[in-house]
Amino acid sequence: ILETRALNKWFGGLHVTGGVDFVLEPGEMHCLIGPNGAGKSTLFRLILGEHFPTSGEILYENHDITRAKSYERIRRGISVKFQVPGIFKALSVAQNLQIALQHHVVPTALKQEVERLLNFLNLRAAAKQLAGNLSHGQKQWLEIGMAIALKPKLLLLDEPTAGMTPDETFATGEMLQTLNRAGVTVLAVEHDMAFVRQIAQRVTVLHLGKVFAQGTIDEIVANERVAAIYLGES
Ligand code: ATP
Ligand code: MG
Repeated sequence: ILETRALNKWFGGLHVTGGVDFVLEPGEMHCLIGPNGAGKSTLFRLILGEHFPTSGEILYENHDITRAKSYERIRRGISVKFQVPGIFKALSVAQNLQIALQHHVVPTALKQEVERLLNFLNLRAAAKQLAGNLSHGQKQWLEIGMAIALKPKLLLLDEPTAGMTPDETFATGEMLQTLNRAGVTVLAVEHDMAFVRQIAQRVTVLHLGKVFAQGTIDEIVANERVAAIYLGES
């Protein structure tokens, strides 16, 4: 569904992605791991069109989207939940979802779709609360909801479980598995290896802006070169 070819991004004198070649198969659940500063978030921004690469190509469903505007990519079915929160704190949970949904469902179905998402996100009981008053884990769920309200074919998640309790993390994994079974391709940046083990069919390790290793979670955990880059950062 997505392919990057020799993707390079320079910020001034800083080389962030050093020739990323990466293929995401349609329908797969894939985790991207790697030390801090490896270029994971930058790769997401390139895929979404918030940054443009210095060189290289990005193909989505066999279309070259390297120079496409962000909104064109969203229209084609790419949606993202970033590390930085993007919810409206002074509005209720239900209002947030309504805003995210309004351009993607017919007005008569809006209420029902909000309800459906509230149930899916375990936020039914919090529907009327202000988004700013949610617990940290609930905020993350709301953000995942805002991203899936766009009905994506490809969902990118940058550290979806950061700061969650183990129970919340596990519930998030189940949510994503449900989405994936419904046909959504998922690419998640993650640091929590238990979560990666729970959801990932394949794992890519990014290091110094390059694809360093790829495989199943068992192959990655057994890979001594991968272990070495993590020990190196401490
Ligand atoms: P983390 O695990 O900490 O989230 P990451 O793998 O997501 O790390 P990136 O955020 O992609 O890493 O950053 C990679 C490198 O690029 C870092 O050294 C960062 O300082 C640098 N960088 C990212 N965005 C910019 C920017 N807009 N301008 C300059 N440098 C940037
Ligand atoms: Mg990051």
